Amino acid sequence: MRQSIKIKKIFLELIHLIKITLFENKCKLCENDLVFKEEKHICSDCSISIKKKPLNTCNQCGKSISRNLEICGECLVNPPIYIKHLSYSTYENRLRDLILRSKYRENEPLKAISIQYYIETFSKINTIKFDYVIPVPMDKGRDREYDHIFEITKILSKKLNIELEINNLVKTKQTEPQAGLTMAKRLKNLNGAFKLNNPEKIKSKTILLVDDVYTTGTTIKKCSAPLIKAGASVYAITLARSI
Ligand SMILES: [Zn+2]
Ligand SMILES: [Zn+2]
Repeated sequence: MRQSIKIKKIFLELIHLIKITLFENKCKLCENDLVFKEEKHICSDCSISIKKKPLNTCNQCGKSISRNLEICGECLVNPPIYIKHLSYSTYENRLRDLILRSKYRENEPLKAISIQYYIETFSKINTIKFDYVIPVPMDKGRDREYDHIFEITKILSKKLNIELEINNLVKTKQTEPQAGLTMAKRLKNLNGAFKLNNPEKIKSKTILLVDDVYTTGTTIKKCSAPLIKAGASVYAITLARSI
């Protein structure tokens, strides 16, 4: 019995070694060979495709707008409650692949790339003194043991030298995934979903919220609400914004 467990272990290790040898020099997104020295984890084609950012974005919500504008119509009519949201790029093609692949399991190379993108995004607001960085909380009951936003935020906290604040902003109920819902349903879905365990700690603090995708902004706005109510100023960064 013990012998068969040992053989199984050796076999699994062998498979792992073969996988590493075969895929080590392949792009983690498109599986093209990595041929250039500067290509780390993903190829330059994927990297260029991800970096294609809108020429001009709204100063508040980060939406793509025409060059002569500073604020989008939506923010003018109905300003978001947070101060500013920034995304690294647009939620399409390779960046969407990267986000979806990072969501469900630990993937160190893609995590490293995401961190790089978040840091680049953060550099546009790095003159602001942040007191806490907070990950957008995941459903506790979600059938997914890996909380990628939390893992990313933990690393960002160290790299950006901002204190990580966890277990304060929490999700109090299980909600339907936001993707595929209309704006009205998204709002209703997240009504009363987030609360602070210790609002006093947040009072007068400047907060950096972290999430992966900004679609209609409902999640960021709903997370910002209890923070702002407690007296905080809120900024948010995400990897991708829908067009
Ligand atoms: Zn590639
Ligand atoms: Zn806007």
